[in-house]
Amino acid sequence: MLPWGIGRRISYQQTPGFLSVGSELPTMTMEHVEALKCTVCGEEYEAEGITYTCPKHDGPVEGVLDVVYDYDEVLDRFDHDVDGDIPDMWKYRAFLPVEDDADPITLGEGGTDLFDAPRLSEELGVEVRVKDDSRNPTASFKDRATSVSVTKANNLGHDIVVCASTGNAAASLCGYAARGGMDARIFVPGSAPEGKLAQPLVYGADVLQVQGSYDQAAKLSLEVTEQYGWYNRNAAYNPYQVEGKRTAGLEIAEQTRHDVPDWVVVSVGDGCTIAGVWKGLKEFEKLGFIDEAPRMLSVQAEGASVVHDTFHGDEDVDEVAETLADSIAVAKPANLRKAVRAVEESNGDSVVVSDEAILEAEVRLGSTEGLYAEPAAAATVAGVERALEQDIIHEDDSVVVVSSGYGLKDTKNAKRATGDPHRISPDIGEVERIYGAGPDY
Ligand SMILES: *Cc1c(COP(=O)(O)O)cnc(C)c1O
Ligand SMILES: [Zn+2]
Repeated sequence: MLPWGIGRRISYQQTPGFLSVGSELPTMTMEHVEALKCTVCGEEYEAEGITYTCPKHDGPVEGVLDVVYDYDEVLDRFDHDVDGDIPDMWKYRAFLPVEDDADPITLGEGGTDLFDAPRLSEELGVEVRVKDDSRNPTASFKDRATSVSVTKANNLGHDIVVCASTGNAAASLCGYAARGGMDARIFVPGSAPEGKLAQPLVYGADVLQVQGSYDQAAKLSLEVTEQYGWYNRNAAYNPYQVEGKRTAGLEIAEQTRHDVPDWVVVSVGDGCTIAGVWKGLKEFEKLGFIDEAPRMLSVQAEGASVVHDTFHGDEDVDEVAETLADSIAVAKPANLRKAVRAVEESNGDSVVVSDEAILEAEVRLGSTEGLYAEPAAAATVAGVERALEQDIIHEDDSVVVVSSGYGLKDTKNAKRATGDPHRISPDIGEVERIYGAGPDY
């Protein structure tokens, strides 16, 4: 057996720990992809098969790779008007690192609505629009990444896919694996909310609930990848999955082309989402579809703030993850470097928000605009409030917040925010006790 698609400059013998093993490489073409480039040392590898991370560095996600494109080739292939009509994210196939002969495994991800939010804007005191990515097929932003990685896995002939996740990536992977006729085996932390455990089980996956943290589940899934050679979709470790997240940046640019916001606000766990969205925005700026890319605002929970602390140059970063916003409860962000770069390159900024502020924001978004977001997604709204207080965002700025996951994923925390319903017996007197007797008519 040959190692799977080891980039030509990698010698398998030197790096048994970081690469998975499978059968022989199929032939394929991705002429629009130039290379996989290490974000740490700059070494370039050929983008064939799957190379996960640069082997020159310690630890599985130290040497995260970035996909480098030949944009002349991308533009040659991109045969669409940039007119805001986006049926799904495969409009941008020319930008995605999938082989020419690959059949997309798709459930219609992307092409999500960008909503005006007049009442929310009024309450916050700044113009806000909401990119509602909670409307993806498995109800989170993760579907953009999963569709790319499962398409690749399938095209490479894999029939088992694996990942570790705080919940949404796993649920997403399982949905797409089912769609592609593949088996999914997922590692989720003991603390994942019920909704996020039910979903992969319904999709027919093996769910291994690790009695430990997300970071421990992630480590275990890497050992599994090494030992069994299953295709791995982990955040940052798989260099392709994050590329699908760029499509949200491309969409925001396309949808706001004549009214580009000053800020795009993204909540941050492992850092793939903010890195992907930024890369997409930057590409559309570079290709001339928008004049100037927005600035990125990173939002983390107070209890899981490694990206924020690193961006602000803290010497002594606390690697803990204590927040009810489970999707961003990450102690060791796998894509730390790319996330910090996104904030820096965009001339952006970073804030942290309390769990209490996150829950208030969830209710605020729901009650003002009818948009039901899970806590990690609502954190962006809390982040806007915080950034206004800290004079980072100003009242005459315009802002797009990305709502990354649907509220029904985690009803337990939603109920902490809203309190209980009125319990009444079926008796008009009880209604009168709440609303008074009512007018005579
Ligand atoms: C995964 C996730 C995030 C954070 O994305 P990262 O790439 O881990 O930074 C935010 N919100 C939701 C709902 C998510 O599922
Ligand atoms: Zn390297």
